[in-house]
Amino acid sequence: MTKIKDIHSRKTINSRGEPTIEIEVKSKRELGRVSSPSGASVGKFEATAFPKEGVDSTIKTIRDNKNEFVGLDPSNQQKIDQKLKKLDGTDNFSKLGGNGAIALSMATSKLAAKTKQIPYYEYLTELADTEPSLPLPLGNMIEGGEHAGKGATEIQEFLTLPTKVESEKQAIISNAEVHHQIKKILEEKNKSFSGGKGDEGGWVESLKTREALDILKKSTEKIEKRKNAKIRLGIDVAASEMWNGKNYEYRRSENKETNQQIRFMKKLVEEYNIKYLEDPLQEEDFEGFSKIKDKINKDVLICGDDLFVTNQNRIQEGINKKSANTVLIKPNQIGTLTDTIEAIKLAKENNYKITVSHRSGETTDTSIAHLAVATSEIIKCGAVNGERTAKLNELIRIEEKSNIGLTNLQT
Ligand code: PGA
Ligand code: ZN
Repeated sequence: MTKIKDIHSRKTINSRGEPTIEIEVKSKRELGRVSSPSGASVGKFEATAFPKEGVDSTIKTIRDNKNEFVGLDPSNQQKIDQKLKKLDGTDNFSKLGGNGAIALSMATSKLAAKTKQIPYYEYLTELADTEPSLPLPLGNMIEGGEHAGKGATEIQEFLTLPTKVESEKQAIISNAEVHHQIKKILEEKNKSFSGGKGDEGGWVESLKTREALDILKKSTEKIEKRKNAKIRLGIDVAASEMWNGKNYEYRRSENKETNQQIRFMKKLVEEYNIKYLEDPLQEEDFEGFSKIKDKINKDVLICGDDLFVTNQNRIQEGINKKSANTVLIKPNQIGTLTDTIEAIKLAKENNYKITVSHRSGETTDTSIAHLAVATSEIIKCGAVNGERTAKLNELIRIEEKSNIGLTNLQT
């Protein structure tokens, strides 16, 4: 049996330049390494990324308790994850830090995959008991909300999702070309467009919601023709960030009560034939989500991010209340690989679609590309910028080296 011989953590920085953690789990011969991302529009019910003392405290806790893990079999994921929970002792990783927990948890699984000499995605399919497929890339094109300055769009993310494509590579390149096309339109519209981008690489410009959607529509139509592909639109409203406890706050228009917000979402979905709708309402409104779901076309993917926070209990509540049909999966929202996979399994058993997602403060780690191949129909990891293309290019490599086909979400 291969055993964990050593664990080493270091402080590194993410794409926003914030401190984060990178962990190496080593056996005698191999090494698994994972670094954690961080969010800006963080859900109220997520695991705490770092304790209030910061990354250094997580590094110290792991160093001081290393012997709890040394000697264990890296393929015993459940044992590792139970130990992490015990070491933390809270229900949201507020003492150890969810970012330390998930990095150690996933680095261990990477070591196990290396020990077995199989690709990481293949190891993850064994853990999750799934068939691999190549996920459709959901790219961030125009960005606002918490990911940009106050002059940007009110809605956090304007997204594109190639749904009819020949290959993963074509899908990824199509998104990149839409991104280029949007820049051209923004430059024509505003001669002094700064070319600024948000945290996830989407363009930042002072636009009303419909202006942004019009530009998105025009750009995708052009690239659809050029690529002979079908590209649908999406938005991540990240509505919890707009919610003041009573209303959804809009800087460019009147605030909206819940029912007005629901009507607004329905209108946008219909006007722009939106395929993907994430967090249209705040994170506690399971009932409101199900009202939206009732009112719009069944073909639309209604995705819960802050609503579900990769947490089985919250996903179960959404299933009971018929709140959504898609779950966003961000491993560091829950803190262990075992819980991430359990959340995915529960969602799949209930015919939910899975979107494996990056965070706005990313690292060049490619683990989520493998998790997406193993478990999801969609990967949400931006369209450009190095920390985003790290994942996209990994998918291109996986497509080239394997005979795995594209997911069957294509519509
Ligand atoms: P994040 O959010 O800033 O918390 O990573 C991104 C998202 O809302 O999907
Ligand atoms: Zn989101």
